[in-house]
Amino acid sequence: MPSLDQLPRERFCHLPTPLQRLPRISRHLGGPDLWIKRDDCTGLGLGGNKTRKLEYLIADALRHGATRVITAGPLQSNHCRQTAAAAAAAGLECELVIDDRLDDADHAYRTNGNILLDRLFHAILRVVPGGTDAETALEEAARELRDQGGVPYRIPVGASAPLGAAGYANASLEIHAQAQALGLRFDGIVHATGSGGTQAGLLAGHALLRSSTRIHGIDILGPAAAVQANVHALAQQTLHLLGHRDDLIQPEDVHVHGDFIGAGFGKPSARTLQAIDLLARQEAILLDPVHTGKAFDGLLGLVERGVFTKGQNILFLHTGGQASLFAYAGLWSQQEVGYRSP
Ligand SMILES: *Cc1c(COP(=O)(O)O)cnc(C)c1O
Repeated sequence: MPSLDQLPRERFCHLPTPLQRLPRISRHLGGPDLWIKRDDCTGLGLGGNKTRKLEYLIADALRHGATRVITAGPLQSNHCRQTAAAAAAAGLECELVIDDRLDDADHAYRTNGNILLDRLFHAILRVVPGGTDAETALEEAARELRDQGGVPYRIPVGASAPLGAAGYANASLEIHAQAQALGLRFDGIVHATGSGGTQAGLLAGHALLRSSTRIHGIDILGPAAAVQANVHALAQQTLHLLGHRDDLIQPEDVHVHGDFIGAGFGKPSARTLQAIDLLARQEAILLDPVHTGKAFDGLLGLVERGVFTKGQNILFLHTGGQASLFAYAGLWSQQEVGYRSP
């Protein structure tokens, strides 16, 4: 079994990503001391959490002699955009199965943000109607490529395979080292969870470190019970991949909060937009309406409920996603541009 540092890996990320204090918002809230881990600054193609995972998955694709990576997601998928960027940087072709699921999507959603960048990275776009089974469409894309003599490598949705999650086991070690250098111990870590690889990898890393810091996944995909079960299974598979006993992680170690998702995936609530507004105004840090805005709302909610208290150090893991702000500009278009007294 390979240990973490023996796994084949490409280097795409600017590491370590910064770990910073959030002094103004901590003071504004008057509760715990808040810190942020800037995985929105992983660097490649506007950054985000998928890039850590892709370092291992693209290395695996190259080892298998692949000519093209194939993956799937919605029009504004951060995962698809980072896969397209990583493939370009590795000299591989990239095909994206894009699920066009929103009938009421506006022009910005269809042309700006991530989908614009997918085009610039020269991804091949296979747009399928909403509700198409992604597995079937991916299989078809792979078969067509094989028929043409190419070698496909399939990357699962969200890059949430055990190899991808290894990127977040690594991130756990990185956070631990940064916290030690600052003389800090975090009492909680909060981040957006969906396809589960990020939380699974963090949990696997914590198991290796024997860390008891609780990781709070804020569910952005739903339903929370399914996300929780998926994170648990993936965390166990990741430990297994790294040569460790998988019973180091029990179901009760996996904390997924389902009550900050609003009306569902991709649908921000008024609270989501307030959380985005608050962090932009207080710290000039940008969140997105699909993932990190909900995750930060979750952190604020856990402060309100007294789960996090004064004197604690709480870390928000920023997983990226700002590229989609420009695709969701319509959310803010009702607000007038003009002079406003402070
Ligand atoms: C994909 C994504 C997530 C969720 O990460 P998973 O590993 O899929 O659970 C969170 N935030 C952003 C910005 C993402 O793009």
